[in-house]
Amino acid sequence: MTPESRIYVAGHRGLVGSAIVRRLKAEGFHNLVLRTSAELDLTDQAAVDAFLAAERPEYVFLCAAMVGGIHANDTYPADFIARNLMIETNVIDGAYRHGAKKLLFMGSGCIYPRDCAQPIREDALLTGPLEKTNEWYAVAKIAGLKMCQAYRLQHGFDAISVMPANLYGPGDNFDLETAHVLPALLRKFQHAAETGAPTVTVWGSGTPRREFLFIDDLADASLFLMRHYSALEHINIGLGEDITILELCRRLAAVTGFKGEIVHDRDKPDGTPRKLLDSRRLFELGWRPKVSLDEGLRQTHAWFLAHRDSLR
Ligand code: GDP
Repeated sequence: MTPESRIYVAGHRGLVGSAIVRRLKAEGFHNLVLRTSAELDLTDQAAVDAFLAAERPEYVFLCAAMVGGIHANDTYPADFIARNLMIETNVIDGAYRHGAKKLLFMGSGCIYPRDCAQPIREDALLTGPLEKTNEWYAVAKIAGLKMCQAYRLQHGFDAISVMPANLYGPGDNFDLETAHVLPALLRKFQHAAETGAPTVTVWGSGTPRREFLFIDDLADASLFLMRHYSALEHINIGLGEDITILELCRRLAAVTGFKGEIVHDRDKPDGTPRKLLDSRRLFELGWRPKVSLDEGLRQTHAWFLAHRDSLR
């Protein structure tokens, strides 16, 4: 990639895409091709084809996806599988046919079997059954990864797939019904701290473990891999540490100043018991995360306070 390269970031209004655009701009890339979902419906094959034929991006970051937390995944299984399959098919196939040099497909750490050895190595893929609460999304992401492999094998298309840990940061979705755990709990703790509520309700047992990666670290790793990685196999992006949901609560209480107690809603699912990625392959290439969880929480909290009036 050079500063002149035409780079398409699909999903640039989302948590991931917006962080990648910030990073690209900071590094002097000025030929970015961007479309909002109102301007271009990525599930519309003809529209995507016409767009890619006209713009002919050289590099594509495919970050557009229908995403959501454990409850959203459980509630909209059809949307999660169908919309994501359509987006992936349209963008990967179109990018190849219209001459893109390279494509990075943003996957997810939830593609791995529910009960696999931790930390999770890349080769654990398809070695066992998926976690039920997000299998629709996971199947779509596995299909995207396999499309990248198939296009590389059959057409020599340089498509790579990356599988990040649970992401968080400025620009996240803070809607309590559809959010991932970190933004949802940040909002609940902040509200309780401000109103003096005695308790915060946490879904499930609090014992599941998750690895939380700050969004700017993901953007950094994505640019690094776009530059330095070209292989059939997908690659994990994590920081190499996980914590329990209860430990996350403790840190959120500290950030927000909440002094009360935690109550469990055990009617809500725990999801997969542990999801720690083995990111040694990435680390061996020379990349390291830069933002600690406490620093990332501080930045995310500050962003939430500054933007909450415009959030759902
Ligand atoms: P996952 O990592 O794919 O399972 O999805 P999430 O980011 O939604 O994390 C789900 C985990 O956090 C489960 O163990 C939930 O029980 C727990 N959790 C606790 N409170 C909440 C909450 O308010 N919202 C969400 N989404 N998850 C919560």
